[in-house]
Amino acid sequence: MKLIIMGPPGAGKGTQAAYIKEYYHIPHISTGDMFREAIKEETDLGLEAKSYIEKGALVPDSVTIGLVEERLSKPDCKNGFLLDGFPRTIPQAKALDEILHNLKMKLDAVVNIAVDESVLVDRIVGRRVCINCGAGYHIRNQQPKQEGICDVCGGSLIQRKDDTEETVVNRLKVYASQTKPLLEYYENLHLVKSVNGIGDIQEIFKNIQMLLGGNE
Ligand code: ADP
Ligand code: ADP
Ligand code: ZN
Repeated sequence: MKLIIMGPPGAGKGTQAAYIKEYYHIPHISTGDMFREAIKEETDLGLEAKSYIEKGALVPDSVTIGLVEERLSKPDCKNGFLLDGFPRTIPQAKALDEILHNLKMKLDAVVNIAVDESVLVDRIVGRRVCINCGAGYHIRNQQPKQEGICDVCGGSLIQRKDDTEETVVNRLKVYASQTKPLLEYYENLHLVKSVNGIGDIQEIFKNIQMLLGGNE
């Protein structure tokens, strides 16, 4: 399974990705997670990405594309992968086509999580993430068993710096202008499978499984 998961910020990409990667045994490649890891480790990449992310702007394509190319070239991606948060611009999508062509790979599907904009601000502002493993929670919709503690690894839950109401507005604008056009790009390639992202998390995953078909 070679997949992209798409949808606006807060649609539930990361949440569904955790189930998809388990079920299909494929690596979850989240550019957002990669940038956050780099920021935590204060690498050159992290230092560069930080200012963009905190404003809710996109990290430049030149930086992002190289990062993904390197990751997709690793052996664990041979039999499949789940890209989350990439591509986010038309130039990134075109670069991905070329990267996959060079690796002799082909995309199987683009899973689009469709969510009405009205729920996104609440989902993003209420999101909490594990400082250690990145698992996602929500202060009401997806609570951990013990407040402030990650179910998966016991790490502390924090609010992302860019998950504020001010930043979200900009991120939604960036999504509408730069990322949403990608749906048409992939629709022309007959790859898009849309799922309703409102409702029970497990039910949404079941619908994704149905759209994608059996185990691979
Ligand atoms: P994305 O990766 O698309 O930005 P996340 O998976 O991090 O989105 O989800 C954003 C927030 O919404 C998180 O706090 C998550 O717990 C919550 N969430 C995810 N799916 C649902 C859902 N189906 N219903 C309600 N809240 C959800
Ligand atoms: P969300 O799903 O909530 O939008 P992500 O974790 O995917 O959040 O991304 C967080 C931030 O990281 C983005 O707002 C952007 O600044 C940066 N980012 C992630 N992926 C990309 C990308 N493919 N191109 C440019 N910037 C990116
Ligand atoms: Zn954790």
